[in-house]
Amino acid sequence: MKTKLVLTFSCVFVVVLMACGAYTKPKDSVIKKWTVVEDDKEVLYMTIDGVMVHETDPAKQPIPEVVTPGTPSTQDKVGTAPSDAVVLFDGTQESFKNWTDDNGNQSKWKLVDGALESVEKAGMIQSKQKFGSCQLHIEWAAPVNVKGDGQGRGNSGVFLMGIYEVQVLDSYDNFTYPDGQAGALYGRQKPLVNACRKPGQWQTYDIIFHRPVFDSSSKVIKLATFTVLQNGVLIHDNYYLEGGTNWQGPHAISEYFPHPEKLPIKMQDHGNPVRFRNIWVRELQD
Ligand code: MG
Repeated sequence: MKTKLVLTFSCVFVVVLMACGAYTKPKDSVIKKWTVVEDDKEVLYMTIDGVMVHETDPAKQPIPEVVTPGTPSTQDKVGTAPSDAVVLFDGTQESFKNWTDDNGNQSKWKLVDGALESVEKAGMIQSKQKFGSCQLHIEWAAPVNVKGDGQGRGNSGVFLMGIYEVQVLDSYDNFTYPDGQAGALYGRQKPLVNACRKPGQWQTYDIIFHRPVFDSSSKVIKLATFTVLQNGVLIHDNYYLEGGTNWQGPHAISEYFPHPEKLPIKMQDHGNPVRFRNIWVRELQD
């Protein structure tokens, strides 16, 4: 009797979870199963979306493209990008030309020791190339001379599509509101942990971003998602972003608004000389 009750409760619980949307299945694969007698034994066969499990014919199961991985950075030596990445900045004057200011003119940010440095009142810097869903690698360092506190210390930001901000801030021993500390999806979601290095040290963000999708009436039909690693530590785990990340006053944040499928990547001038290096992107399917 007890077992029956527990089972009933469990089923109801699962149904409620599904109805609430807590359980989401991204894809319904079509799975077929059958058995074949081989050497007097029954062997189970399965196809997933029409492709047999452990298929070796490349005409039926295309082989993944070969990508040569890059090398990771150290504090002293900048790394390299994977072979299929779009390199947006590699420390050279040439790659500085991949960037403009907000109006498409030459940026007033500085090229210093192979890094892009934010300049007060220069405004945002943006990539000439536009991107939607992507994998973005970017490295940043807060100023070694610690000045200010809270949001005033080493503030910048990495804006996917120029709209959705992963906060850059010197959050090493520097308190601010958690949904605005380094790694936060600004105003929407704090990072899972604080994985910051000391000011002046290079830090990495590896961001897997899927853009939001809008229908013809400008309604969001697919939320943006973020998975982010800071210095190799997971700080957002496939997080569904429920609106924008733009400041709307001290205790409010922006909503979604419709925009094109691809837009520039931007970094913020928030008045602090934050540096960036080794920026590369791999475009992803939506
Ligand atoms: Mg910021």
